Amino acid sequence: MPITRRKTLALACAPWATLQPIAARAQTPTSRIVASFSILADMAQELAPAGVQVTALVGPNADAHVYEPSPADGRRLAQADLVVINGLGFEGWIERMIKVSGYRGRVAIATQGIKPRQGGHHGTDPHAWQDLAMARRYAVNISAAFAQRWPEQREAIAAREADYIARIDRLDRQVREQLAAVPREKRRVITSHDAFGYFGAAYGVDFMAPQGWATHSEPSAAAVARLIRQIRNQGVRAVFIENISDPRLIERLASEAGVRIGGTLYSDALSAPDGPAGTYLRLMEHNARSIVTALQA
Ligand code: ZN
Repeated sequence: MPITRRKTLALACAPWATLQPIAARAQTPTSRIVASFSILADMAQELAPAGVQVTALVGPNADAHVYEPSPADGRRLAQADLVVINGLGFEGWIERMIKVSGYRGRVAIATQGIKPRQGGHHGTDPHAWQDLAMARRYAVNISAAFAQRWPEQREAIAAREADYIARIDRLDRQVREQLAAVPREKRRVITSHDAFGYFGAAYGVDFMAPQGWATHSEPSAAAVARLIRQIRNQGVRAVFIENISDPRLIERLASEAGVRIGGTLYSDALSAPDGPAGTYLRLMEHNARSIVTALQA
């Protein structure tokens, strides 16, 4: 009896289902992965088993630090088969959102096992994806969650993981080689928020930013003045805007310090798919190339 009732209800809710041709129905994804932001969604897409649809809550060029979830996001979470988040406090809004949505499945944390950077009054730095060696850890964690969720596709998932990790490792070597061409003392870069600490630690670059590890607050006038002095005194030539941030602060900094802006770095989000950072690996490649070019100018 309950089965009949459920069936009736499903048909009542989706009357178009009976009108769909068989082929179209076969293409409809049977499983859904929801990732908190665009970079994770791309990694999940690279690693996902066949027939699984991946979507991001916070899309390209959007700032996950200050994201305000919509009711539609809650509905997507409720329908998810697996949720993937960064962790380390990056998505401060996600826990409550999951609770409200009614999603009761597993939440895979991509940074599981990563020892986060700590410092000063900022607390924990969540931007671990900016180091390709950390991204390798992300791939391992995400694949493990997929294999647990879809055990029948374990072999295919392992093959995708091996292929993705090989590409991550290759790019990691390439970035190291590119930066090796720049003398260490010249490797100083200004960005708007402090998203590149892991990149700096991994590849030997000093990043300075008027904003901290999150984007919630405006920098103080004193912090901005200090940074302008640093740019002048240390001869910093690589000053970048970020795709998720208002460019005006950096434009003001650059103009007051008398330096040119070296372009855009992709910190916490991908570009649009046809942009220069449409995937995570293209993002890392673009950022490294832009930094090296600006430092060598
Ligand atoms: Zn950030």
